[in-house]
Amino acid sequence: MTTRPKTLTPEFLEGLVQRVPGGTGNTWKLTEVYTGDLLVELPQSSEADIEQAAAKAREAQAVWGSWPLKKRLDVMKRFHTLVIENQMLITDLIQAESGKNRRMAFEESCDVPMGTSHYIKRAPKVLKDRKHAGPVPVLSHSTEVRRPKGVVAIIAPWNFPFATGVSDTIPALIAGNGVVLKPDNKTALSPLLGIRLLEQAGMPEGLVQVVCGEGPDVGPTLLANADYVMFTGSTATGRIIGELAGQHLIDCCLELGGKNPMLVLDDANVDEAVHAALFGGFGNSGQICMHIERLYVHEKVYDEFRDKFVAATQAMKIGAEYGFGPDLGSLVSVDHKDRVASHVDDAVAKGATVLTGGKPRPDLGPAFYEPTILEGVTQDMLAGSMETFGPVVGLYKFSSDEEGIALANDTEYGLNASVWSTDAKRAQSVARRIESGNVNINDILATAYASKGTPSGGLKQSGVGARHGDQGLLKYTDAQNIAVLKKQVMEPQGKQTYDAYAKQTQTSLKLMRKLRLR
Ligand code: NAD
Repeated sequence: MTTRPKTLTPEFLEGLVQRVPGGTGNTWKLTEVYTGDLLVELPQSSEADIEQAAAKAREAQAVWGSWPLKKRLDVMKRFHTLVIENQMLITDLIQAESGKNRRMAFEESCDVPMGTSHYIKRAPKVLKDRKHAGPVPVLSHSTEVRRPKGVVAIIAPWNFPFATGVSDTIPALIAGNGVVLKPDNKTALSPLLGIRLLEQAGMPEGLVQVVCGEGPDVGPTLLANADYVMFTGSTATGRIIGELAGQHLIDCCLELGGKNPMLVLDDANVDEAVHAALFGGFGNSGQICMHIERLYVHEKVYDEFRDKFVAATQAMKIGAEYGFGPDLGSLVSVDHKDRVASHVDDAVAKGATVLTGGKPRPDLGPAFYEPTILEGVTQDMLAGSMETFGPVVGLYKFSSDEEGIALANDTEYGLNASVWSTDAKRAQSVARRIESGNVNINDILATAYASKGTPSGGLKQSGVGARHGDQGLLKYTDAQNIAVLKKQVMEPQGKQTYDAYAKQTQTSLKLMRKLRLR
């Protein structure tokens, strides 16, 4: 029997959604995933609501953007403290709206303080003015000034609603922007709490607006009123967002889907690789963009790996609990569970073998699905080429590093990869040949994702741009070039002919190269 945390009272939940404008008059029935019970009616925003939200964010941004960076960072320091103080409440909300197990929900809640802390430390260096030499030594120079874009649209998916909704908002705010956030209808509650905490920390009211609705209803107006869009979601929707951004000539960052490979080389520590593959395949019930769907194991260790992996998977605890017990929770919705099941059924119909799992678990809740390992998956199967985004892993054999790399790269995606070997040099050389924005050596994804100083994004059809690193802050700014000339010397002086001026210019160009002045 699932007992919902006492913190999630109807008053609390209704208080959270109050800030969402509901001009359409419609609501979305936001449910507790474990039970299907109604949590709250979420207002759905109209086009006029979205226009107004962007206008309010723009008005507040004019003030916020004029604050010294230190004052903005003071808000972020208080916010960091508040998130940690409220972490169990945030975890409750993430669990209720997404159905994930508590460990995963807690770990998601850690992403926001980690990212905030990184940018509190790094922003003064990244956003400061940079002086550059001008065309004429001594007499000229130029300054690169980082200006906020204005209003940033942030569109977040349901799989990590708090992390993608709030963590991506933080650097946009630190850079001086206002934000209009559009979470997924299913998972709007934890981001709404995050915005409330930002206001409690001293962020001006109105600076971050939250609008809700189905993506295709909200997207066009949202992008028409934004100066930048940060999108996280599927590759299919990413293309639509990219097109809209192009129409409005605004820049975008697109963090999209994956079909991520794990390579277990013949010298890998098999026990460690098996343990990691449990998280790689089934963490968040396989609903992590960086999780593993294709598991390639060297033929020398394949049988040992397969037998241990199947046994360890069968020992995993699945459950609808708000305690830290279960290893796996639910999928996010019945629709998504049906989609995952259709990939497994299609694979089986086309000749794949289920080594374990392969069935829904209605006894646990409406959207539970067993962790599933398949053998004999081929590219013509849905699970062979498309992102399944569920607890389903295909096992494959390879016989050389060369072959393993080729198989890993045989996909249109390039988000994450995992390489296992006890030879660090060999693993590095394999990693550099994998066409993927992130590669973890002897880990699945956390090491790359939590390395906040390094940009993290997708190659190929997995995305455009990156979050994290200096790039993850600078993308929310425009560079302004303020150039100063102390005396006009870039033209013939006095009665000097243009012939003489041209010769003099050529001599100076040569000299500046020689002296490395330019
Ligand atoms: P989705 O593309 O269906 O939706 C993502 C968000 O976009 C939602 O808020 C949705 O309402 C909105 N949306 C949908 N259509 C829209 C439109 N036409 N205009 C504007 N907004 C629109 O993706 P999803 O199913 O919610 O999320 C799962 C996908 O996200 C998976 O493919 C996963 O790999 C990917 N993902 C990627 C990352 C990453 O960092 N690369 C992180 C998390 C999830």
